[in-house]
Amino acid sequence: MAATAPVIMRVMASSISTAKRAGGIIRDVLKKGDLGIVDKGKNDLQTEADRCAQRCIIASLTKKFPTVKIIGEEGGSDLNVCDDWLVSELDEGFLQQSCPSEWEDVKPEDFVIWVDPLDGTAEYTQGHVEHVTVLIGIAVKDSAVGGIIHQPFYKQPDGEMGRTIWGLKGLGTGGYTAVPAPPGQFIITTTRSHSNALHQQALNAFASTEVLKVGGAGFKVLQLLEGKAHAYVFATPGCKKWDTCAPEAVLEAQGGTLTNINGDHYAYNADVEHVNRQGVLASLGQNHAELVGKIPAEVRAAVGAK
Ligand code: AMP
Ligand code: MG
Ligand code: MG
Repeated sequence: MAATAPVIMRVMASSISTAKRAGGIIRDVLKKGDLGIVDKGKNDLQTEADRCAQRCIIASLTKKFPTVKIIGEEGGSDLNVCDDWLVSELDEGFLQQSCPSEWEDVKPEDFVIWVDPLDGTAEYTQGHVEHVTVLIGIAVKDSAVGGIIHQPFYKQPDGEMGRTIWGLKGLGTGGYTAVPAPPGQFIITTTRSHSNALHQQALNAFASTEVLKVGGAGFKVLQLLEGKAHAYVFATPGCKKWDTCAPEAVLEAQGGTLTNINGDHYAYNADVEHVNRQGVLASLGQNHAELVGKIPAEVRAAVGAK
């Protein structure tokens, strides 16, 4: 089955197995306690866990799919990793499923894999480990089509650490139970560490009943998927393509929408600018266009949106 499955199914299955291994590396670095924190810019941290998880993911996926373009948050990676970090398995459970017909003939050169080896680094260093995710997003030409969101510090009922959520457009999602957000309320999930006046102005424009401030794009989209929030609002530049590719694919495979604050999808081909300059607006079970309409024109203009 594995050898003959269409390449998108093998890329997804390999990404699921690799994200789990990266999650183990992230737990190990925290256990050892020496995080090796570097500030890459203003309010933009990197730790030993970000670096090691990225090396594991890029080396493993490059070895399996040498002609697929892979872009990781932490830049060019050393492909010489120990065998323990080189993941060759393909998730068997995922491969049991049929490939949606629209992706059957996609070729390796049509893919870009966007990797955020550790989303929510600020929260990782501050002990809010449940916000941390590993994100592997699979774009076909311009579109976010498949995604993996792995939560290394999620405690399963049997005590096992970590869970892996996946989504593939045309197939659906797996790894969690979808829950609708409570009716009669409007709960926003947003940043806890990258706010500014412009962003606050956008938040104020929604008649929200609650604002949840949590870390990471992956964790915020999980809150939508599990019915903890109705919309994810981030009305300022700062998120990058590796933050949104996997969450967008998983959310949209579940019937939701992730766009910029103008309601337009970002493009995920290999040549795009990495920064999502026009912010992020995501929702599930809502009238997305209506939410776009609530963002003040002044805020949209400030980020260069129509
Ligand atoms: P947050 O919602 O603040 O947790 O951000 C989601 C993702 O976008 C994380 O990976 C952040 O590192 C990144 N991000 C958002 N805003 C910025 C910023 N101003 N500078 C650097 N990274 C940012
Ligand atoms: Mg990130
Ligand atoms: Mg990161």
